[in-house]
Amino acid sequence: MPDRSSRLSRTEPREIVELQQLKARQPDLAGAVDMQLALVDVQRRVQSRVPLPWIQADPAWLHAQQRAGRPLVRFGDIPLEWSDFRLALRRTADILHRHESLEPGEHAQIVALAREGNALEPLVSRWYDVSAGFTLSPEAERLPAGSPANLEQVLVLAIRPFLARCAEALAQRLDLSAWTHGHCPFCGWEPDFAVITSTGDRRLICGRCSAQWAFGAFTCPFCSNDDRTLVTSFTTRDNRYRVYGCDVCRRYIKAYDSRNAERPVMVSVDSIATLPLDAAAMRKGYQ
Ligand SMILES: [Zn+2]
Ligand SMILES: [Zn+2]
Repeated sequence: MPDRSSRLSRTEPREIVELQQLKARQPDLAGAVDMQLALVDVQRRVQSRVPLPWIQADPAWLHAQQRAGRPLVRFGDIPLEWSDFRLALRRTADILHRHESLEPGEHAQIVALAREGNALEPLVSRWYDVSAGFTLSPEAERLPAGSPANLEQVLVLAIRPFLARCAEALAQRLDLSAWTHGHCPFCGWEPDFAVITSTGDRRLICGRCSAQWAFGAFTCPFCSNDDRTLVTSFTTRDNRYRVYGCDVCRRYIKAYDSRNAERPVMVSVDSIATLPLDAAAMRKGYQ
């Protein structure tokens, strides 16, 4: 329906329009697109209320962290408005539950956690510190025993609008060209997507804060394997997307090839458009 899409493009953000078009083109992805549309809506609403933080960090400390391969955003730097975070947590859990990505019991536990007065804040700060690498104790568990299996996935989505603002603020101030690690320079999380730039370089995209950083085109971000003969790469027929599978650790990452593309990478869209590639990668034995 061209009329509808041209009307949408004037009123809706680009990623919403792209998701609607993807659903029209590939009806088999409709369920995944609908869930993503709901998640994008929550994230946009929350993020519009999060101010760009002024992160008070000593430049010498920032440089030392970078040299040590440790992240730059401390938990206290995150402009977490707890009532907004609780709402984001509940809404995210509701959406995943509605789309059968969260068991009813897990959903109930997460909603109760979001409502509880005292349990949530220490749980989130500890989870962040351990997962970012600020707490280096090898026995440190990210989440308390008995936590719902998918709690981490919900936390990642709910904290993203707040953490993305931190990465945005620091990226304006810092030169990250010396960062050569596979994990995020801002929050320490793993990349969950990548983009091939117009010059053919590869940038990784953090799965938690959405920050981007340059990384070797044929190095595995998960185990640092850089033997090109041990990285299996294949593309979609239209060359729009590429998978890099590591033959050492068996993990893989997908990338959007922005060369000759009519739009920049949009992870919310491209991660759904490439669901068939996930299936292909798993058939080849990658995880
Ligand atoms: Zn990050
Ligand atoms: Zn690897």
